[in-house]
Amino acid sequence: MSSAAIGLWLHPLRQVLDPNATVNWQRLRRLAAELDDVLTTYPVGSDLPPGPERSHRLRQVRRVLVADGGFGDEPPLWQLLAQFVCGYRDVDLRDATGLGHGRLVARHATPTARGRWLPRLLAGELAGIAITEPHGGTRVTETRTYAVPARDGGLLLSGRKCWISRLTEAAAFVVFFRDWHGRLAAAVVDAATSGLRRTPVAPSGLAGWSWGALDLDQVRVRPDEILCGDGMALLREHFATYRPWVTATALGGAAAVFDIVTTTLAARDVDRIRDNALITIGRAHAQLATALLGCAVAEHLAEQGDQHANMWAAATKAHGVDVADHTAAELALLVGAAGFRADSPIAKTRRDLAGLLFADGIHDSLYRSAGRHHAGMPVAVPAPRDNTPAIHNAKVDAAD
Ligand SMILES: Cc1cc2nc3c(=O)[nH]c(=O)nc-3n(C[C@H](O)[C@H](O)[C@H](O)COP(=O)(O)OP(=O)(O)OC[C@H]3O[C@@H](n4cnc5c(N)ncnc54)[C@H](O)[C@@H]3O)c2cc1C
Repeated sequence: MSSAAIGLWLHPLRQVLDPNATVNWQRLRRLAAELDDVLTTYPVGSDLPPGPERSHRLRQVRRVLVADGGFGDEPPLWQLLAQFVCGYRDVDLRDATGLGHGRLVARHATPTARGRWLPRLLAGELAGIAITEPHGGTRVTETRTYAVPARDGGLLLSGRKCWISRLTEAAAFVVFFRDWHGRLAAAVVDAATSGLRRTPVAPSGLAGWSWGALDLDQVRVRPDEILCGDGMALLREHFATYRPWVTATALGGAAAVFDIVTTTLAARDVDRIRDNALITIGRAHAQLATALLGCAVAEHLAEQGDQHANMWAAATKAHGVDVADHTAAELALLVGAAGFRADSPIAKTRRDLAGLLFADGIHDSLYRSAGRHHAGMPVAVPAPRDNTPAIHNAKVDAAD
């Protein structure tokens, strides 16, 4: 089943996607077979309500895929194609083939923190990312979660993060905050640290992982848990690679809807398939395939360290997920009300794709930042707001 994602979708694009034959296609086919096996044992579709049982099964899928070959050693383009294959089976598998946000730890943590976290993440444990705050995820430069120095040279973090995915499953969170100089910074925070409080919220899609608010009340962070580098530069570098993976997952989900719809139509008891259906199908195929090529271009630029990689990743994420979302919606109409049943994979994929219009960057904001780039407008970084009284009190850890 997963092999159709390779045979029908990736294979025709292979010479363009992988002109230098650097992708291990055999490993990709093995992944497809492993995915079929593990999803037979741990089906992760919408048959279970959101909750611990569903995310337990997703975690099992991650662990089995790790045990069957591991991840972290394949190039980002391989992971992009692997995510397309995973999305083809279930968009909830968006974290199935790699370190995900743990990549920030792998690339930017101190050697001590890497030594502590990488073995666990490479063994399949999850890292969450905590950026968005109640004043708006589109205004990251105005982050209000703040740090005050602790006596041991570390930090105490306080603030509220919202809409956080992998809320209860993550072993660690990469938390973005302002340091006492007002600069954006990030730290890897053990999910078991005291002072963290989680408030789950039920999502209407992407319900495989839990989601909700993460409150931080004087959460202790050791000096070696602070990531190296400016917070905004870390975000740009990370999302230049991460967004193409998410986009490929979404396009894989829509490609599966395409295949379900075309198979259903071909089997329909009709004299001939109407023209409107044929037009929708022809257009959807071209849109999905070209959007996938677009996100492969973004991935390539990120891998090359191109200075415009972040802009490409933002614009092709917005475009690719938009394409996946609207083609799935148009195709769904061709199979009638059957695709509207709650247990239909088409209905589930549509709910999940709606979530991806927000997750990892809301689309108007991503297009706007690309537009700003093309119009030659500099990015305005507002001065930190004077809204964190504790910074001015410079409260030093009372427990020390
Ligand atoms: C399923 C899902 C998973 C997610 N997972 C995570 C996660 O793991 N970690 C994380 O940190 N976040 C996560 N998010 C949050 C996501 O990144 C944010 O939803 C996104 O960045 C947008 O932020 P927001 O929802 O606060 O919207 P806002 O920033 O409030 O923006 C909403 C709208 O208001 C507009 N707007 C903003 N300012 C103005 C203005 N001055 N005038 C007019 N309009 C304005 C924006 O352009 C946008 O259209 C997740 C979201 C979803 C749905």
